[in-house]
Amino acid sequence: MLERTRPFGLAGLIGLPVAQSRSPVIHDHWLAEHGIPGRYVPLPVTAEGLPAALAGLAALGFRGCNVTMPHKRAVIPHLARIDPAARRIDAVNTVVVEADGTLSGSNSDGAGFLQSVLDACPGWRAEAGPVLLVGAGGAARSVAVALLAAGVRDLRVVNRSPDKAEAMAAEFGPRVAALPWARRADALADLALLVNTTDRGMAGKPALDLALARLGAGTIAADLIYTPLETPFLAEARARGNPTVNGLGMLLHQARFGFHAWYGVMPAITPGLIRAVEATFRTSPAEAGR
Ligand code: NAP
Repeated sequence: MLERTRPFGLAGLIGLPVAQSRSPVIHDHWLAEHGIPGRYVPLPVTAEGLPAALAGLAALGFRGCNVTMPHKRAVIPHLARIDPAARRIDAVNTVVVEADGTLSGSNSDGAGFLQSVLDACPGWRAEAGPVLLVGAGGAARSVAVALLAAGVRDLRVVNRSPDKAEAMAAEFGPRVAALPWARRADALADLALLVNTTDRGMAGKPALDLALARLGAGTIAADLIYTPLETPFLAEARARGNPTVNGLGMLLHQARFGFHAWYGVMPAITPGLIRAVEATFRTSPAEAGR
């Protein structure tokens, strides 16, 4: 029934702020590439407006939406179904308006991160060795759930506020350990993968406070940030000869899952798409966000 009311493929991004988002460029590029009539629109929504905005998606003819800060957790009570990974992460970044108008939620951030690491470092395997996450916010939880599902056996978390790292270890089980923030520089020697999941190093913010002197040779250094494309943390790791992965691949890969859910086509990350997204870094203020 609903299909008759939404021949035009509307989707969007609910968050605040959303004006800086690269997602419209990404999804509109794919819509044009696949000849699908539609548009992806930024939807600035306040906390007070969130229930009405979600309730209105079906009536407005939306196929679904992405969700970003600060609503990734707050959307959960408004959804009829949440997939197990999103439930474990306790955050949703993709909402699908089902044919009967009900809403389903999932989270593609962690899967997007994993795929971006494999794109940049095809030799990486879950069994390659310990992984250290710096930070224990929502993005860290999504990365942790994906790494554990992929089979990582030794996942360490270090966070400025120790309670959040300890909560992750308690919640996610014996493969996850919380390390003290003061010991973070000593924890780098035997890692296969080191991930900055904090916002430190984002344009306009101070660099991540982490000395890399003990970083193992060959450890992959990844950062979830993509504005700038190379944070001071990644620049230093690269200068030391370590392989690096920035946050752009994660952004692009997480978007593929939503596009597939809304339009039934799994889009590709092509050089043309990367050029279109990178052009936005030259034309708009260096602000982060989906
Ligand atoms: P969040 O839930 O607010 O978590 C922020 C994290 O940063 C916390 O661990 C926090 O530690 C830490 N932090 C903040 N200020 C700090 C400081 N001065 N020193 C040390 N640590 C500090 O945010 P989030 O949603 O997880 O997002 C984190 C980052 O990931 C952002 O840069 C975001 O843009 C990026 N991200 C990228 C993608 C992508 O597609 N590439 C997707 C999602 C997120 P405390 O607990 O101590 O405050």
